[in-house]
Formats: sequence, structure tokens, C-alpha cells
Amino acid sequence: MAGSVGGPRILLRRLREVMAEPESAQKRLDKIVVLIASNMVAEVCSAYLVNGARELELFATEGLKPSAVHSTRLRIGEGLVGDIAAHARPLNLADAQSHPGFAYRPETGEEIYKSLMGVPILRSGKVIGVLVVQNRTKRHYTEEEVEALQTVAMVLAEVVAASDLIGAKPDEPDLSHERPFHIVGSSFAEGIALGHAVLHEPRVHVTKLIAEDTELELKRLEQAVYALRGSIDDMLETEDLSHAGEHREVLQAYRMFANDRGWLQRMLEAVDTGLTAEAAVERVQNDTRARLQRAADPYIRDRLHDFDDLANRLLRQLTGVTLASLSANLPSDAIIIARNMGPAELLDYDKERLRGLVLEEGAPNAHVSIVARAFGIATVGRAEDIIEHVEPGDAIIVDGDTGEVYLRPSQEVISSYSEKARFRASKQEQYKEIRDEPGITLDGEKVDLYVNAGLQVDLPHLEESGAEGIGLFRTELQFMIASTLPSLRDQIELYQAVIEAAGGRPAVFRTLDIGGDKMLPYMNLASIKEENPALGWRAIRISLDRPALLRHQVRALLTAAAGKSLRIMFPMIAEVAEYKRARALVDKEMARLDRFGKEKPASLEVGTMLEVPSLAWQLDTLLPMVDFVSIGSNDLLQFLFASDRGNPRVATRYDLLSPAVLSFLRHIVMKCHEHKTPLTLCGEMSGKPLEAMALVGLGLRRISMSPAAIGPVKMMVRSLDAAKLEAFMEGLYGLPERSVRDHLARYAEENGVVV
Ligand code: PEP
Ligand code: MG
Repeated sequence: MAGSVGGPRILLRRLREVMAEPESAQKRLDKIVVLIASNMVAEVCSAYLVNGARELELFATEGLKPSAVHSTRLRIGEGLVGDIAAHARPLNLADAQSHPGFAYRPETGEEIYKSLMGVPILRSGKVIGVLVVQNRTKRHYTEEEVEALQTVAMVLAEVVAASDLIGAKPDEPDLSHERPFHIVGSSFAEGIALGHAVLHEPRVHVTKLIAEDTELELKRLEQAVYALRGSIDDMLETEDLSHAGEHREVLQAYRMFANDRGWLQRMLEAVDTGLTAEAAVERVQNDTRARLQRAADPYIRDRLHDFDDLANRLLRQLTGVTLASLSANLPSDAIIIARNMGPAELLDYDKERLRGLVLEEGAPNAHVSIVARAFGIATVGRAEDIIEHVEPGDAIIVDGDTGEVYLRPSQEVISSYSEKARFRASKQEQYKEIRDEPGITLDGEKVDLYVNAGLQVDLPHLEESGAEGIGLFRTELQFMIASTLPSLRDQIELYQAVIEAAGGRPAVFRTLDIGGDKMLPYMNLASIKEENPALGWRAIRISLDRPALLRHQVRALLTAAAGKSLRIMFPMIAEVAEYKRARALVDKEMARLDRFGKEKPASLEVGTMLEVPSLAWQLDTLLPMVDFVSIGSNDLLQFLFASDRGNPRVATRYDLLSPAVLSFLRHIVMKCHEHKTPLTLCGEMSGKPLEAMALVGLGLRRISMSPAAIGPVKMMVRSLDAAKLEAFMEGLYGLPERSVRDHLARYAEENGVVV
């Protein structure tokens, strides 16, 4: 006897009636299983729920022995019901008893039932129970019947969530979302943060599940999908700043999926069974999540993640929920949890309220990590599956030093971290003590320690850290946080503030470095579709092709520095000819000042970033033309190793302390030494004490880093014998190893270098 009576729409309507009755949750559940059994023409319908002891407890049944209710319990993974829960996927078996997973429970009296169909009861992607129907005959349940049971299970999930059915027993503490959880990811920005979790992309809890007007819901769904497609097309076309962190590839995948007919079809069918549009999206999303849990292949997992993200976007579209950064009630100790994000999205948050950041993906040298470091926001990346385990508002500790994240930490962990935070504070005290001491090695070598900056809020750090200057001022950040192109006046004001804060110390302004993952929403870059944006039209390439932008900026710099000294450098210069063209533009602007009788800077030094390897092979030609050079190791090494700095899959393929890196840098240092050209390194490498030690060992005497790194790096410098290290490192350049990190760490330990 197959088929269902009246179909899922009728069943949902009946369920809604049951849910509206003023009854206890247990009674409701009892009625629901009866309804399901009769609607699906099944002799048995049972609901198992995950109890506080993480067992699947039979909570209600029609057809099995009533005495088994609350006494039959299965472990997750045990028997067919346990198997459904463990894999979060339906089972449809005409001959269940011959299935190897079948576990017979005599107290239920189920031995007479041959066929079984069961589905997980999912809420927010989590299995909270299993719903099963059984028949005496060898019944082949249809795909539609499986779908219908899934839909009912979803409604059931809401009944359960809104009740005190589980976790009712006080001696059995509830579900996984209340237990402590520990994740080991990677350190992206140092620091310890204790705070409360905020989901960057908030989950949408769908509460209205059953449609009143199916036609209307179909229309709502179609319109939302249409709007979603449009917004993705817009993002792809304008490369909207607020989505700058997403790779084109991801957006393109979104577009492909958003246009996937199968996806839309499945959602429409779900609406057709009687669900609201948002419930239908979630219903299909639950399937995706279940598949995600089972996918071992990282590529497939990524794609399923994309689908999951897309469903979230659609849910937000349907329910009008906005991104966390736009929300007014961010807690004062917010720790943002995101799959990934771009630098601009992080800048959208109120910095005063931001303590930490945890990304499921990301890379330490991606710009979002750099911005996090600049703001002193403890950041952990590659924290796998954190989104799945976190609930908004959870207490959370981010250890940016070790890359660990503690969700809902125990009192012991909180105490030990409070202690760690105190220890860091006392370290900070030690750094403060040497704040006004110079960075001089034991053998008298002076190492200049500069800070990297980019916004007005960074400026006090110069004074606080005791740095000797600003080695890199990333001017693009002002452009990135603005909603329209900053005016000449805005630019002049910021540059004046920087020069004033520097108070006679050097400040090196880098001209606009946009493109790649640093996009400006108001610049019409619609025509540009690049396969490899990091290798694309960015930085000086844009400036030279659109010279008005650069001339405008140089004009602002020259005006801000009237009567003072000014240092300008260009990003991404790949060859001498490019430098000459950029430099000519500065000369033109200087001549313009003469023409208009305006005051010029008292001194002007012009230099270049060295972050494209080709330039390293023109140093004999370049160096006589420049006043200084600054190595941008972040880009330089991604190009040297052909390894995208923002792509977590390849970001750790090479080590910063590899013989190749050190030899290459040594070559540049020697050339600059030969030509007596001042050289700085301003990539992230210089902020790590061991890496910084190696840089001093290979001859660098000026490094620029995030302000928080100045103290630790100065400690290292002041405990180091530079000549001894230099001699030691002679033996490392030619080693055939992937990394000489261990050699250097051992050297530091044996020689009392504080790293
Ligand atoms: C670099 O590439 O090392 C650098 C300092 O520039 P940015 O990180 O801004 O690209
Ligand atoms: Mg760079």
C-alpha cells in the first residue's frame, strides 16, 4: 500500500492546526506522529530526539509499543536511526532488516516492519533528531515521499526548538552548542582577545514555515532569486568594495549556482509542498549542509560552502536581515566570525568595539590580516568549521599568538587566559621601558624600527610604540574607507596630520596601491574582468594609465609638506622605465608649484617599493636614480614563488625563512649597500622577531612593521650580536632545505637572542 493521502500540503496544514492548539509539546509530538503515519500511509511513525546525553531517544511513536517511548535510546551511529543522524542524510530501505546497520530493539516490537524511511531532523544544519516511518510490506518509498518527510521534519524541528522537550532534565546538560569547543587555526594577527561572538553574516532563523498562500510564496521566492542574481551580477561588474575579499572565482561560482535551474527547481518544489519561501530555501540548504558534512574533497566542500553562502544571502534577501557590520548593536567586546572577508569589510566595523577576528579561511598576508594587525585586532585564520559550532553571543577567546580559538571556554581556560593577558600586559610594560631606547645591537649596530600606518587612527601609535618614523604609509586606505573619491582637500588634511604626527621623523608616503583585493567602489572598473587580479591592473599600473589620479595625489602630498621634508614612493614598480615615468610626474608637479609661486617641500626624496622581482635585476640602473628603496616582501615573495598571498591553499607552501628568500634579499641588500642607497623592508616579515633577526643578519638596518611589533622586535635587536649572526648565516644561504627556520631558532636560543 503505497502513496500518501492528500500530499504534504494537506499534512502541513494539519500540522499547523496541531501547533496552534494549546497543548504540551509532548502531546503535540504524539499527535504529529499519528498525523504523519496516516498521511503517509505508514504503519509506524516515530520521532527520535537527541537528548542531553547525546543519545537518540524515542520521544513519540505511532505503531511501535508505547512503552518504548523514552526508554529506547540509540547512540548516534547505532542502528539505522543512528546512521541517519550520524550522516545527516535520509535512508530509504525497502528491506531494512537486511541492512547491515539494522539494530533490533525487542522492546519496540518493530520486527514485523520490513521497510523503513527516515530523515534527519535538522535545525540550522545540526541534527537534533530523526523522523522515521515504517511499513510491514517491502515498500519502495518514492523520492517525493522522502522530500515530504524532510519537509515535515523541518516543521518538527521548530516544534522541538520552541519547546522544553530536550534539555528538560537539569542533570543532563544540553546540546553541543553549549559545550566548550576548541579549534586550532593559524595566527594571522597577534594578541589575546576575550569577548563575544558576532557572525559577520548572521544566520537567519526561519520561524514562519508553513505557507498561507502558496502562489504568493512561489512569487516571493522567484523574485528573491531574481534579485539575488542581479546583486551578484552587480558585484561582479562593479567589484563592489564591500565584497572585495571574495575572489572573483567565488563570485563567479555564486553566479553559476544562482542561475542553477536545479537549485531553483528544488526550492520551488519545496514551496509547492506547502512551505514558505524562506522555509523552502532552508529546506534545500539543509540538504546541502548534509552533503557538506560528508564531502571530503576540499574543492567540493568549497563549492558546497558557496551554495550554503548563497542560500544565506537568499534568506537575508527574503527576511531583510542585514550584515553584522551594519548593525547598530555590536557588543563592546565583539569578536567577528566570518568565512572570509575583504579589508574594507573589516574597516566597516566600529573599531572601538572590535576585539578579535576569526576567519574560516583567509591567509596571513591577505590585506584583511594586515588591516587587523594595524588595528591590533587579534586574528586567527583557517579556523575550520567555526561557523558551524558558534552561536551568536557565545563567549569566545581568540589567541592570535598560537592560532587557537576557545568557544564557550571553561572557567579554567578563562582564568588561564586572563593570566596570559596579564602576562602580555607585563611584557608590554617591559616594551614600554625600552620605548625610548634606541634599537642597537649588542655589537653597536643601529637598526631603525619604523611603523606601517594608513589611517588617521594609526598616528598615535607612532609615539606610543617609540618607532623612529613611518616606513610605509598606505595612502589607499583613506580611499578605501571613503564612499566617494577623497577630495584634494581631504587628502591634504590627512597628509598634513601624518607629517605633524611624525614631528620631524621620516614618514614615507606610498602612492595609491589599489587593485587586486583593494578596490574602490566608486571607481568604475566595470570593464575589467581579470583572471589574476594580483598580477593585473593595479597600483602604479593604474596610476600611470590614469595619471590624473596620481598627479592629484602628488599635488596633495607636495602641498601638505610645504616647508617640510617629504618622502614619496611608488608601489609595484616592475622596471626602471616605469619608475622614470612616475618620477617625471612628481617633477611636473614640482614645476607646477614653481609656476604658481607656491611653497615647496623643504626637501623631497623619491623612492620605490621593490615588490616585483624583475626590478631586482635592474638595481645597478635603478639605484643611482632613487633616494631610497623599500622591499615589499608580501608581494615580492608571492611573485617570487608564484604563490597567491591571499589563497590559503598555497599561502604556506614556502617559508619566509627559506634559503631562496634569504639569498634573494641578500642580493638586494648588497646592491643597495654598494650604491649606498637607503633600504627598508616594510612587509609583514619584519614584524616577526625571528624573521626580523634574519633580516638584520643578512644586512638590513631599517625595517618597518605594525606598531605592536616594535616592542618585541626591539627586544630582539637589543639582545643580538649582528656580526656573529651575519657570519653564522653565511652557512645558510646555500643549504638545500625548504627552510632554515630551525637553524635560526636554535641560534637565537643558544645565543640568548629574545625572539
Ligand atoms: C608588500 O607588498 O609587502 C607591502 C608592504 O605592500 P602591501 O602589503 O600593501 O601590498
Ligand atoms: Mg605590496
